[in-house]
Amino acid sequence: MSEMKPMHVEIAGGGFAGLVAATAFAQRGWSVQVHEAAPSLRSFGAGIYLAPNGQRVLQAIGAYDQVMSRSYSAPWKESRDQDNQLLAREKNEIPGGGRLVTLTRQDLHRAIETVTRKAGVSIVTNSRAVAADPKGVLWTEDGRQWPADLVIAADGVGSKVRDSLDGVRVDASQFSFVVHRFLVPRRWAGPAEDQWLNYVNYWNCDLERRVLYTPCNEDDLYLLLGAQETDELAHQDPLSSKVWCESFPVLANALRDLPERSRLDHYEVTRVDRWSYGRVAIVGDAAHAMPPTIGQGAGTAMMNALGLAAAMEGTDDVETALREWEEVERETTEVAQNASVEIAANLFSGIVERGAGWDESELKVAQRVPRGVINRLA
Ligand SMILES: Cc1cc2nc3c(=O)[nH]c(=O)nc-3n(C[C@H](O)[C@H](O)[C@H](O)COP(=O)(O)OP(=O)(O)OC[C@H]3O[C@@H](n4cnc5c(N)ncnc54)[C@H](O)[C@@H]3O)c2cc1C
Repeated sequence: MSEMKPMHVEIAGGGFAGLVAATAFAQRGWSVQVHEAAPSLRSFGAGIYLAPNGQRVLQAIGAYDQVMSRSYSAPWKESRDQDNQLLAREKNEIPGGGRLVTLTRQDLHRAIETVTRKAGVSIVTNSRAVAADPKGVLWTEDGRQWPADLVIAADGVGSKVRDSLDGVRVDASQFSFVVHRFLVPRRWAGPAEDQWLNYVNYWNCDLERRVLYTPCNEDDLYLLLGAQETDELAHQDPLSSKVWCESFPVLANALRDLPERSRLDHYEVTRVDRWSYGRVAIVGDAAHAMPPTIGQGAGTAMMNALGLAAAMEGTDDVETALREWEEVERETTEVAQNASVEIAANLFSGIVERGAGWDESELKVAQRVPRGVINRLA
């Protein structure tokens, strides 16, 4: 049998999707270069939830132990109203095995970056990708061209590389619900007992405001404050502690000192007609951004990035492998996206009916292992 030639991949974007893809390809013997537009690698957005599918990816690339050493797993998931009345409660145990874990984005990103660098990936910061050629070339803002056997557009929801592809059809929309996310010291919430140990969604249905309360480790508490875009009181700059404490009196301690500046994000959804064009693959939010209502944007992004590297194993027929990868992996991601959109569209109705448990479609995604990947998570 003839030896396969060494293969090279150029990746636009050093977020979760880009770095997982980079690591997984490098670990399979590819030479890999990542272009990150920002001056350094980092992730915005305070905290993050990971289900077993995301955890398996970390296990597969060797970042699991570092992630778990600074993560948190709550005993219960709860929904409560603004007066602290319990609406729904479920043990944090996922049917089929595993639990949700939470951590800060910085800790997740750092753990992945460690294995990415260990795998020998070349990372170029301040390097903005602007376009790609399906024949296998990535262009950067400085006018340079980077030929490759495979180009990966992992440059996020507003992907320039994706949009440069001739004929690509992108369907993108935003919800009217917007959120602020930040970390505060965990001790602010109250003594580490009872509900302060849990993941809690607090709902003020009259005002259509929401607070997601998420311990991330011993020290950090991730708070997500959400309200309709038109709710000017909720989105004052700087955020008004008074307004939010009055909306959620039970959280008065945790909300007493809101950050001076906070990032505002929309719930967004993006779909592309195809996940690849010639030798260019589109991965992560660039292909399938979804509202965070089932906490699977990064989970599916990392899962598909790993699945892509697995799909390329033992072949140099890149275009066929890309088509097969999409055929096998896309359906599960669409299940996640549809479920997320459905909840986002009915955020303040059906809270009690939705409960705090796992429905069939959420489970299908949470327990997914990409084809060709060995499930090493017990
Ligand atoms: C409010 C909110 C809460 C969320 N909570 C969760 C959660 O709990 N669990 C979960 O799984 N997901 C969650 N998500 C979704 C998750 O954040 C995204 O799905 C995930 O970050 C996507 O990763 P990515 O690598 O595809 O894109 P990104 O994280 O956006 O990374 C893209 C990278 O590309 C870089 N870049 C951009 N343009 C260029 C360019 N032209 N050239 C080079 N580099 C470029 C960016 O600087 C960035 O580093 C949440 C999202 C939101 C909005």
